Amino acid sequence: MGMFNDFLENVKAVAIEFGEKANDIYDVTKLKAVKTRISNDINKNYKSLGNKYYILNKGGKLDGADFSKEIATLDELHDQYDTIVKQINELKNLKRCPVCSKPQNGDKPFCADCGAKL
Ligand SMILES: [Zn+2]
Repeated sequence: MGMFNDFLENVKAVAIEFGEKANDIYDVTKLKAVKTRISNDINKNYKSLGNKYYILNKGGKLDGADFSKEIATLDELHDQYDTIVKQINELKNLKRCPVCSKPQNGDKPFCADCGAKL
């Protein structure tokens, strides 16, 4: 649950960068920005996991040390990363209007956004 909130925070932060509401986030550029943030989070968490390991090992306290929280966080971040990559690919494969380039659903003859012939 906490991690899902972190994910929403990433989406919100990117939306703010683009000066828009989080609801308007679904286009490739914005999803790529979310992907970058998740990737940075992954690196941050690997670093913190490495730090914990290093400090415990140096202090001779590695036996019985619990890394399950850090591992779970990284698992969750990797899941988020895979999800966002999938979303980006789905969006890239959508048919787009030749005039306004908004993605179009189904086989309608006209663009749902600008009315141009598809
Ligand atoms: Zn259009």
